[in-house]
Amino acid sequence: MSISPDLYEEIILDHNRNPRNFLHHPEPTTHEAHGFNPICNDEFRVHLKVRDGVIEDLGFEGAGCAISTASASIMTDAVKGKRVEEAEQLFEGVHRLLAGEGEPGTALGKARVLEGVRAYPMRVKCATLPWHILHAALTGRRETVTTEADEEAAHGSA
Ligand code: ZN
Repeated sequence: MSISPDLYEEIILDHNRNPRNFLHHPEPTTHEAHGFNPICNDEFRVHLKVRDGVIEDLGFEGAGCAISTASASIMTDAVKGKRVEEAEQLFEGVHRLLAGEGEPGTALGKARVLEGVRAYPMRVKCATLPWHILHAALTGRRETVTTEADEEAAHGSA
């Protein structure tokens, strides 16, 4: 299955215009992480409520370009109600797909639309950022994740 460029644009624009779970704070928040993409100044924080191994609720806040915002929206939509292992499989699959490492190896469901970002290599990091933040939150990493490891210090001291 492949997504046509028109459908891709339509879905990205829709999620950017009307992001799902934006500025939503689950109560109580059990997991959270923050991430930054210095290439594009995309910066988000993701909050999750995980209970009995299930992501019962989540939301994100921050600011970024259309693709990173849409990807964050799509990510929250795709993993809500999923088990943590399933969400991690989605993260791995999206990463593999966008990194050009071939097929995701798992059903991506709603996240499949992000395949369209492969046509814009400069924007791949925008699209993967929210998924890296999700992964960081689920694995309990407290530090800020960044798409450019070398720039983390520079951003922190700014
Ligand atoms: Zn961006």
